[in-house]
Amino acid sequence: MSQAPRTLSFEFFPPRNEQAREQLKITRQQLRQFSPAFFSCTYGAGGSTRDGTLQTVTDIIQDGLNAAPHLACIGANKAELRQLLNTYRDLGVKRIVALRGDMPSGMGLFAQDDDLLHASDLVRFIRQEYNDTFHIEVAAYPEFHPQADSAEQDIAHFVAKCQAGADSAITQYFYNPDAYFYFVDEVAKQGVNLPIVPGIMPISGFAKLSRFSNSCGAEVPRWLRLKLQSFADDSASLKAFGLDVVTQLCETLLKGGAPGLHFYTLNNAGTVSTICQRLGL
Ligand code: FAD
Repeated sequence: MSQAPRTLSFEFFPPRNEQAREQLKITRQQLRQFSPAFFSCTYGAGGSTRDGTLQTVTDIIQDGLNAAPHLACIGANKAELRQLLNTYRDLGVKRIVALRGDMPSGMGLFAQDDDLLHASDLVRFIRQEYNDTFHIEVAAYPEFHPQADSAEQDIAHFVAKCQAGADSAITQYFYNPDAYFYFVDEVAKQGVNLPIVPGIMPISGFAKLSRFSNSCGAEVPRWLRLKLQSFADDSASLKAFGLDVVTQLCETLLKGGAPGLHFYTLNNAGTVSTICQRLGL
């Protein structure tokens, strides 16, 4: 298990309008008390949120905080990527979350440049063109990527992605810590010892979590699913239970040596703040 210092980070998506942008500013102010290493912002593959991601990253930097834009290579070409990376570099961005990305459903996967089909290609491209300008984060899947041919292949692809020049990784969310510890051990056996930070998804409802988990290959274990379903319309009890479960998950991960936590905030500070406070972060 990595001995790197523990890092805390928070993920946003680009707000959809000015009001949401103002709200996100408040969220950032609430979360900065936990001294995160960075705030990341998602990117719609194919460039659908290009301006929104750039605006959010600019807002974060103007608040005097570290920003880590996500960048997806699928559906992009090198000239576009270069232009965006130059803009980020000039803004003072030091960290990029490099991804393949998912095109909107129905559009399939296509690469404008044949050598930008996988995240490892994007990592290689950034390293070749920008040397060490950016700390490169990549995605990891302790429960394996939904399109993986096999567990072994997925691990091999993750290892290749790290060898292409990644500095650290953030995982898809999960509720079974054993999957994370197993994944970290497996990749360590193949020589990958870079920090793999667990991605944490707070629980604030059942239907949405269930839908999203099905699409991204994250498992909501049966015991948890049935318990969440049993709250039906009692959202206060569901949230209280979800807080306990996720706080305990974080405790287990940190005690087991996880190098930090990356929270999927869904642009809300409330639940995430409570978890961080309970963890004494
Ligand atoms: P890859 O590492 O390329 O892997 C994707 C699949 O391809 C895997 O099944 C892998 O096994 C396989 N593969 C990899 N290399 C090869 C190869 N050489 N040959 C054959 N198969 C290969 N999506 C967005 O659109 N925008 C975001 O901002 C975003 N942020 C994310 C942040 C995190 C922390 C995580 C975990 C995911 C995020 N995603 C985002 C989702 C992500 O884009 C999808 O899961 C996508 O399907 C895979 O991206 P990747 O970078 O993991 O791809």
